Amino acid sequence: MSHIIHRSLAGTPPVAAAAQGIWITDANGKRYLDACGGAAVSCLGHGHPDVLAALHAQIDKLAYAHTGFFTSDAAEGLAKHLAAHAPGDLTHCYFVSGGSEAIETALKLARQYFVELGEPERTTFIARRQSYHGNTLGALAVGGNEWRRRQFAPLLMDVVRVSACNEYRDRAADESQEQYTARLLNELEQAILDAGPQTIIGFVAETVVGATSGAIPPTPGYLAGVRRLCDKYGILYIADEVMCGMGRTGTLYAFEQDGVVPDIVAMAKGLGGGYQPIGAVIASDKVLAPLRTGSGLFQHGHTYICHPTAAAAALAVQQVIQRDNLLVQVQERGAQLAALLREALGDNPFVGDIRGRGLFMGVELVRDRETKTPFDPALKLHVAIKRHCLARGLMVYPMGGTLDGRQGDHVLLAPPFIISPQQ
Ligand code: PLP
Repeated sequence: MSHIIHRSLAGTPPVAAAAQGIWITDANGKRYLDACGGAAVSCLGHGHPDVLAALHAQIDKLAYAHTGFFTSDAAEGLAKHLAAHAPGDLTHCYFVSGGSEAIETALKLARQYFVELGEPERTTFIARRQSYHGNTLGALAVGGNEWRRRQFAPLLMDVVRVSACNEYRDRAADESQEQYTARLLNELEQAILDAGPQTIIGFVAETVVGATSGAIPPTPGYLAGVRRLCDKYGILYIADEVMCGMGRTGTLYAFEQDGVVPDIVAMAKGLGGGYQPIGAVIASDKVLAPLRTGSGLFQHGHTYICHPTAAAAALAVQQVIQRDNLLVQVQERGAQLAALLREALGDNPFVGDIRGRGLFMGVELVRDRETKTPFDPALKLHVAIKRHCLARGLMVYPMGGTLDGRQGDHVLLAPPFIISPQQ
């Protein structure tokens, strides 16, 4: 019997024994094609020699030093690399151990920004339905995945909730894409006005919605409208790029394709590509300025912030992405994947929508294509799909529909950037 509290208490999953490139091998020698990078994590695949070499070198030199005493070349180097490659004045980095910690950091940084500015009455975040920002209490509070939230809701802070940008589900038949986008932005503006702009800290949103909705990109102009409203009412725009960032969509940050620059960005998964647990926040000069001139510190911190070994792994991953021109590879393989999915599944009566950006694609399943009616959640179709694919040696990332039955089961594909055309 396993002594681990596994994700499902129903059993113990297979033991992953080795991995190379896009393949994971279990203890029985069975091979699995990692078509989802775990959870959109393994952007360079497994066993990349450059990352392993950087990891070994770092551990030989310095595995860990507490940030209460020291900084490290590895963390400084990673911050310098990220600052050099981020748009606008996003130049200030904070390194944590994963996505949820990155979101917590972003929320606290945003709150402290306003406290330092002398606006402590700002206590509220605006976030969207059908979103996921992590499983710690602050991140879960801003998240809009009801299944994940429901038993913990009494412990979570209140947020103002607005609609997701989900064109397939929510654009009316007689509505143009522009009208739909304008409707969403009107709703956001009304929510800001109803709450009182002076009470709002920030708007939090995934650029391309991942774990809850299966790779849903924003409509053209939506994020530009969000940026305009945040500026108009003096609130911060916090982008969650934990899943969709670090090249996954074909640009380093997904929001670059929407022509916006957020005030604070959270990232994780593809940052370290799974070689070490690492997440990060990158923030603008504007956000850091009042902390510098005010209290002189960010009132936050964990034992493992700026972990040198994790930073060295992430820096190696990010350097390989740049050196090997992998963003272009993501664009090309992404276009190929989208075309193949449309060719194979476009006419399938149970496929309602195929969407995504780059190597971040989602397929939503429906019982009835005309009415977009999802399958009964009690069927747990996503669980059956996962089992079916695993039996055939294929890893995909399936998720159930929403509790309200408005969104169907879906499957997320996020293969490593190094996947070949044949693979
Ligand atoms: N934000 C988004 C968009 C995510 O997809 C996830 C994880 O799936 C998180 C935050 C939380 O990241 P982690 O699981 O590393 O805590």
